[in-house]
Amino acid sequence: MRTLIRNIGRLYLVPPGPVRAPQLGDVPILRDAAVCIDDERIAWFGRDSNRPPDPVDAELDANGQAVVPGFVDCHTHLLFAGTREGEFVDRIRGKTYVQILEAGGGIHVSVDAVRRASETELVGLGRDRLRRMLAAGTTTAEVKSGYGLSPEDELKMLRAIRRLSGEQPVELVATYLAAHTVPRAYADRAEAYLAAVTADDVLERIYRDDLAEFADVFCERGAFTPAQAERFLRECERHGLRPKLHAEQITHSGATRLGVALNAVSVDHLEELDDEDIAALRGSATIPVLLPGCNFFLNARPAPARRMIDAGLPVALATDCNPGSSMIESMPLILSIACTLLRMTPVEALVAATANAAAAINRADRIGAIATGHQADLLLLDVPNVERLAYDVGRNAVRTVLKRGRVVHQA
Ligand SMILES: [Zn+2]
Repeated sequence: MRTLIRNIGRLYLVPPGPVRAPQLGDVPILRDAAVCIDDERIAWFGRDSNRPPDPVDAELDANGQAVVPGFVDCHTHLLFAGTREGEFVDRIRGKTYVQILEAGGGIHVSVDAVRRASETELVGLGRDRLRRMLAAGTTTAEVKSGYGLSPEDELKMLRAIRRLSGEQPVELVATYLAAHTVPRAYADRAEAYLAAVTADDVLERIYRDDLAEFADVFCERGAFTPAQAERFLRECERHGLRPKLHAEQITHSGATRLGVALNAVSVDHLEELDDEDIAALRGSATIPVLLPGCNFFLNARPAPARRMIDAGLPVALATDCNPGSSMIESMPLILSIACTLLRMTPVEALVAATANAAAAINRADRIGAIATGHQADLLLLDVPNVERLAYDVGRNAVRTVLKRGRVVHQA
């Protein structure tokens, strides 16, 4: 199957990640362009007037507007049950995230709801959310467990993610986040809880059934210490799960440097990152993932994105879609928030949400870029440039979504 996209006003030639400054903010833009797709892959791109004369099976007209790679949402908790709008209002009235958590609210509400839900109910909830995310241009999403907090319920979440990944177009990457928080039944017994969720039979089952690719831990006051995080991640890595960390979100814990020492694929959040952390990341292959939707949603201080970019770090962006701290599914909205809160340019935000996000889930050689041989995950926009995409805050400017060379959504 050969597909041609012609009449592209601006084709953003995002290179494969990781991309650092100055390329991060200076992507080549091809005017009056075309893209040829052979089956799943980009076979050719260039000036529309120079396109190969070979016959094609399908032709798409970009209407003179912009074409960009599909968004890679590299950090989500999109599989959850129930909602927490009550806390959203409590916070407006002055309660903090930690106060809500310590009062037994917060994440425990979602844990109870996920434990009550059947695997099939979780699949249904995830399906609806993924349909909306696809319509906003997300072609790949990482999805974490972490609302089960028992071996059985964590495995139930991972099986639901695997079912979802086989039945709808968004490519899913599963992460085992059993170390999201200490469940109430294990209050003050974090070590015993970690022993239960890293028992050999649990991790062997995840490995044998190919239920996850990464392990993740919330390293934070009230959750897990760096020493506990290290033990959890090392146990998981023995069973083939590469480390990721929720790091320096509310307090500075040293999780970023732990991530670098463990050669984590990414460290995520980083609101409280310091200069030593930035130096450690600069000498590493670990991708720093920024989640400004959280800062918007919680009205909290954002990560020092400009300092990170100026230091040459290949920052990535994601929604952190979750019911407590970022009820946001839309990557275009995250681009807008990255521009306003993180002071990133729209082009920097685009690269962070595609090529660098692909690197944060170890897929930069296949997705997130416009390059010959790369998977044809592409978005036809109804705006002429990415500045307009970010500037039109809250509007969905995604017109057509291609996944593996096939049209999977049409506005
Ligand atoms: Zn998260």
